[in-house]
Amino acid sequence: MTTFLGFAELCSKIEGIAGSIEKAEILASFLSDLDEAELAIVPSFVTGSPFPASSEILLGVGPSTLYDALSRASGSSTTEIKDILRRTGDVGAVAAEAIGKRRPSTLSSFIGGDSLSILDVYSRFLQIARASGRRSQSVKAKNLQYLFSESSPLEARYIARLALEDMRIGVGEGIVRDAIAKAFGATPAEVERGYNFTGDLGLVARRAKEGRLSDLKVEIGRPIKMMLAQIGSGIPGSLAEMGTAAVEWKFDGSRVQIHKRGDDVEIFSRRLERVTRSLPEIVASIREGVRTESAILDGEAVARGEDGRPLPFQEILKRFRRKYKVEGTAKKIPLELFLFDIVYLDGHPLIDEPLRERRRILEEVADPKILAAQTVTSDPEVVAGIYEKAVAAGHEGVMLKSPASPYAAGKRGKNWVKIKPVMETLDLVVVGARWGEGRRATFLGSFRLASPDPDTGRLEDVGWVATGINDEMLAELTDLFRDLVLVSGEGMVVEVKPEVIFEVAFEEIQKSKSYSSGYALRFPRLVRVRDDKALEEADSLERVASLYATQRGRNGPGSG
Ligand code: AMP
Repeated sequence: MTTFLGFAELCSKIEGIAGSIEKAEILASFLSDLDEAELAIVPSFVTGSPFPASSEILLGVGPSTLYDALSRASGSSTTEIKDILRRTGDVGAVAAEAIGKRRPSTLSSFIGGDSLSILDVYSRFLQIARASGRRSQSVKAKNLQYLFSESSPLEARYIARLALEDMRIGVGEGIVRDAIAKAFGATPAEVERGYNFTGDLGLVARRAKEGRLSDLKVEIGRPIKMMLAQIGSGIPGSLAEMGTAAVEWKFDGSRVQIHKRGDDVEIFSRRLERVTRSLPEIVASIREGVRTESAILDGEAVARGEDGRPLPFQEILKRFRRKYKVEGTAKKIPLELFLFDIVYLDGHPLIDEPLRERRRILEEVADPKILAAQTVTSDPEVVAGIYEKAVAAGHEGVMLKSPASPYAAGKRGKNWVKIKPVMETLDLVVVGARWGEGRRATFLGSFRLASPDPDTGRLEDVGWVATGINDEMLAELTDLFRDLVLVSGEGMVVEVKPEVIFEVAFEEIQKSKSYSSGYALRFPRLVRVRDDKALEEADSLERVASLYATQRGRNGPGSG
């Protein structure tokens, strides 16, 4: 039996190391000493997931439940706890400090008790996840309180971070994959293949230990990682590189992976979460439109507006998130299915078959009504024609796929290339910033952006940007903003004097209640600092609104 303290010490050691190779080595040696049950848990734990990525189980602990539990276990008030949080910006530090200062009256169970094992923590997490109904929050808090009251400060640090699924030790799936490979004498590629088929690092680790990685196969009911697309250089360039391409619309919707066995249908989202209950009409169209006993299908669900054009992405999200009383939302936001791939048919995995063969099979089993149309061509004019139609219809552009390519689960490679219109950039005013974490704690790492309202002259928020900033820029930006810091806000957030303009690229502008402008940028990325621009030259909310209106081809060719 391995203690949770052992795990906490491992995390603490890894947290202090910068290099991924060294992190993987330390983790590998820890994994190699675990028994089977622990090996099922630890690979997810170190990445900050209480349960495997593919599992349906959600812990469902929010900060307030956590602070409540911590307060009861430590005797500190929630105000004291929030003060520590404001000072440190890290729930782990909060838990360690509160438990470290534990009042004597609450000490009894700790001194007398046995030390927590990894399995104890996991089984409490399971009870927390299973709590439902009216009393669920108090059941969750009680179990967490038990864990904290049995913990030393170091254990409390990682229990708190794990409960909020934010480990901050710089271990992602890649490092765990390398560690499993190293611990059990497999290659990282073999481990990754197993992971892509199962989404469960713990299961992969156990099979690797038994030398049975090759037993892991695509199975109905267990989502496989989805194949992803790269950004292409443009129609002529991308087509020249691929030679002949299978061309499809790039639908503006949300990815779905559908598992069918008889009338049983299970749907997984892009993040491999089960969303079956939210999407009854997709279930129905599979039952009606797919003529085979069992299959795993890949496609896009599109929300159709009254004018026939796709609705904005956030409308689809409303469908994916809705679990109860689905009918009302389904009426308002009806979904259509466009299948573009098949990876498993009646007992046979198809991932290693070339796309052209998978497409032949897909056309054989699926009704054309639910199929994404596909054209195989090497003529750039033909591709340009398809692209124009897709954009005019309100979709994103086109996908070019290599007809000879296998289904590369979990990979973003050059066999699927997306071509989309280049979105314009916005010049926005930086009005706030947030200090980084861990290695980046001495740098300002993300920046709050605003756009002036032409009517009031006030700067209104449109969101945060943290992408597109490398280590070198971090230092430069921190220097640039150091003298502009006005007030330190909550936690790690500061307000800065509005002086600097960022040119920011993004995928899309969304309507949003989260920011005062009423808009938010999806996937914002810093292009450059516009030190050549004065504050008055920032893009106004009027421009944000007009870009919002013209995006997604609403005024594009052919849409009138
Ligand atoms: P992106 O999210 O920009 O990386 O683009 C990849 C996503 O485009 C996929 O995950 C799908 O959700 C979506 N998509 C839309 N149409 C297609 C298509 N015909 N083939 C593959 N992916 C598509």
